Amino acid sequence: MEHSDMIQHLRAQGHRLTPQRRLIIEVLQGSDHHLSADEIAQQITLRYPTIKLDQATVYRTLNWLHGTGLVSATWLGQSHMVYADAGRHQHHHLICVQCQASIEANPQLFEPLRESLLRHYGFAARLDHLALFGLCAACQQAAGGQLFATENTEDTE
Ligand SMILES: [Zn+2]
Ligand SMILES: [Zn+2]
Repeated sequence: MEHSDMIQHLRAQGHRLTPQRRLIIEVLQGSDHHLSADEIAQQITLRYPTIKLDQATVYRTLNWLHGTGLVSATWLGQSHMVYADAGRHQHHHLICVQCQASIEANPQLFEPLRESLLRHYGFAARLDHLALFGLCAACQQAAGGQLFATENTEDTE
């Protein structure tokens, strides 16, 4: 979605667009990747040094944008919350809880999940930017496969 399109979309829905809101939208749409609230505030300060933007306003605006469905909000673990333009950069993260490695996962792999959630619950899931937590292949190997071995004993007998 182009910058002006998101603005138009919000206007059409009757939202009021303050200069602060427009700046936050501009930063999100101009970014190639997800951003934290702090990173968004920093970019605005860099571009417009005279503009005063307090943290509460940034968080309030991001929550509002998330509510409109135009912006994704994803917890990446360790109090790291990130935001992205939901219409762009569709990607998901597989995060290892042991070594903190983050693997980018193909969004197409999540399409069957979205479809079954709709079929079973009539729920239209917004799978725009997911983070799944688990153990990477290297950490499973380092643990000698012990971590999951006990859970599957019934199936193998
Ligand atoms: Zn991301
Ligand atoms: Zn790992």
